[in-house]
Amino acid sequence: MLLKDKVAIVTGAASGIGKEIAHTYAREGASVVIADLDLTQANAVAEEIKANQGQALGVKMDVSREEEVEHGVEQAVNAFGSIDILVSNAGIQHIDPIEKLSFADWKKLLAIQLDGAFLTTRSCIRHMYESKRGGSIIYMGSVHSKEASMLKAPYVTAKHGLIGLCKVVAKEGAKHNVRANVICPGFVRTPLVEKQIPEQAKNLGISEEAVIKTIMLKDTVDGEFTTTEDVAAVALFFASFQSNALTGQSLVVSHGWFMQ
Ligand code: NAD
Repeated sequence: MLLKDKVAIVTGAASGIGKEIAHTYAREGASVVIADLDLTQANAVAEEIKANQGQALGVKMDVSREEEVEHGVEQAVNAFGSIDILVSNAGIQHIDPIEKLSFADWKKLLAIQLDGAFLTTRSCIRHMYESKRGGSIIYMGSVHSKEASMLKAPYVTAKHGLIGLCKVVAKEGAKHNVRANVICPGFVRTPLVEKQIPEQAKNLGISEEAVIKTIMLKDTVDGEFTTTEDVAAVALFFASFQSNALTGQSLVVSHGWFMQ
């Protein structure tokens, strides 16, 4: 068990990639806090984990709201005693060309992706410093942390921004043995992606199949989607790595869509 006696908070863990990471961490012995906007679904994931003899707690958290983040992290510490791992994963997508993009949609996406990453980092890192147990902070970036695509201005901007935040956290956290890294997945078939297939098809005037083949998977080495399991395996690697040798990094898991 790679995460025995560790406590992890995974945001956006009621669905998709976050849910898979929560299950993976629980199987490796961590107590996992499922933090999500959707408390009903968060509780359902926590129940699944408990049914498999794991330890889990669902908490309601809008990561863009300071008081909800503080309250959710407090609930986690009260339940499990400390925080060792944060996976800042909650996120949304928005598809629009810049000339049609509203300021409200721009700000909403940045608030969830960037304010959320900052607020959860600040809250968890205080506990990591105080406990003197060190810690691992993992940001869910994207190939869009490295590459741009049309129609995704706020998403590409936010995902690039996470790499900057990660590097600062890696530098500041080092003396407390707190590491920070970014995972950059290619397309994974979660609800977030299922929603954008018809949206992109409409915006670009092409079929849904063409969106998958000629846009999403066009530059992969094998035309395959990345899976939630692929991403969770990287999240486990970062969480269980023992020293500051691996910090301030971003790792792309995308079937070769982006090669460094
Ligand atoms: P998803 O839609 O399946 O899950 C996202 C979860 O985040 C949901 O449970 C939702 O309720 C929650 N959420 C949304 N806003 C929130 C908020 N303000 N506060 C707390 N929770 C909130 O999506 P996913 O595909 O699993 O995406 C997870 C992360 O992975 C996102 O950051 C996304 O950008 C990133 N990512 C996804 C892909 C992909 O292809 N699916 C690729 C690269 C990166």
